[in-house]
Amino acid sequence: MKKYSDMGKDELNELKAALIKEYEEIKSSGLKLDMSRGKPNTNQLDLSRGLLDAVDSKASIVSENGIECGNYAPVDGIPEAKRLMARLLMVDEDEVFVGGNSSLNLMHDVIAFCLLFPLPGGEKPWIKQEGAAFLCPVPGYDRHFAVTEHLGIKMVSVPMTSEGPDLNVVEDLIKNPIVKGMWCVPKYSNPQGVTYSDAVIKRLAAMKPAVGDFRFFFDNAYAVHDLYDDKKDELIPILPEFKKRGNENNAFIFSSTSKITFPGGGIAAVGAAKANLDFIKKNMSMQTIGYDKINQLRHARYFKDMDGIAAHMKKQAAAMRPKFEMVLNTLQSELAEHGIATWEKPLGGYFISLDAMPGSAKRVVALCRDAGLVMTPAGATYPYGNDPEDKTIRIAPSFPDVNELQKAAKLLCVCIKLAAVEKMLEK
Ligand code: PLP
Repeated sequence: MKKYSDMGKDELNELKAALIKEYEEIKSSGLKLDMSRGKPNTNQLDLSRGLLDAVDSKASIVSENGIECGNYAPVDGIPEAKRLMARLLMVDEDEVFVGGNSSLNLMHDVIAFCLLFPLPGGEKPWIKQEGAAFLCPVPGYDRHFAVTEHLGIKMVSVPMTSEGPDLNVVEDLIKNPIVKGMWCVPKYSNPQGVTYSDAVIKRLAAMKPAVGDFRFFFDNAYAVHDLYDDKKDELIPILPEFKKRGNENNAFIFSSTSKITFPGGGIAAVGAAKANLDFIKKNMSMQTIGYDKINQLRHARYFKDMDGIAAHMKKQAAAMRPKFEMVLNTLQSELAEHGIATWEKPLGGYFISLDAMPGSAKRVVALCRDAGLVMTPAGATYPYGNDPEDKTIRIAPSFPDVNELQKAAKLLCVCIKLAAVEKMLEK
């Protein structure tokens, strides 16, 4: 099979007719699948059922330092949960705030605090200044962009490279005092699966933003989500790099067990240097007397330490690996030789990011939807839902079972091909 760009109009028209036939056949098979979000499927949730017995009706619900976990306070969590989350965040135990079941919730709240109250190193809250803007590596996590847009923060796209965000662009933009923050998913980024190199982390840690109330929002949601034992990305501990350079106040590090145990019933945490942590604790203590510490206790007792998490994540990897491989093999066999799409081959995380022919991503997603496959909306991985080249498609392989996924991947490829041929025939 040739590259589409080597085909003449007649050949493309013939191909289009064949693809429409193939598409209609799949459409009539009555597919009904949702690949729009990175959700674990039921089998993966079942891997964590033991968690529910980790604090049963006969167990003590007192923490190791005597906190009654069924009662109010303290706001920042119990020591055993802090210890566990500190390892995940790669910070010290006294640099952790353990919250509720969602890191996105914590990120939202911390940004709201920054808008309303002066940060350490800043004189006025962000909202009382000349506007606030966030740097957004693209493609990125749609809900990050939704939070910043919702809270009235302007977003500026920064291109990604295979090692992390383009730091020449970042260094230039942080000279502007209205730039107050930057989203960073440092390991197995959503959606590309890129892990920031040591050099990128060190250069970010050394940066001197124009203002003292600038913060990097590192969201290490996929800290332990390797697909393979023998090939995995390594992320260096982030906060220590900032501390070494005296810039520890420039970074918040977030994570959660959402994609480790239960997305609806995990625990979330933020790691930060003392001044930032005090800022969070002070403001958070106005909105809650304390989060669900029984769930913190459950997680701490179930996993005990990072070895416990690592053993559990091997089971998660065994569930995810065949799905990633299925999608990647299908993309390779269906698309590679046609020169109409490129994609990443991540070693972990929850997503595969694919660039279809520019100008065709919306059409691909619409074709998929009409044939019963719901994908993440085209453009969602860019600020304001606007992919300037209309090319990025996020594939979330976790939720369907492998058989369904095979059909979905095949349909996606047919739609990518059909949309590409349509685009070429427009010329
Ligand atoms: N951060 C990233 C990068 C994600 O991909 C997700 C979920 O897909 C989340 C955060 C959500 O985390 P939580 O469930 O802890 O709010």
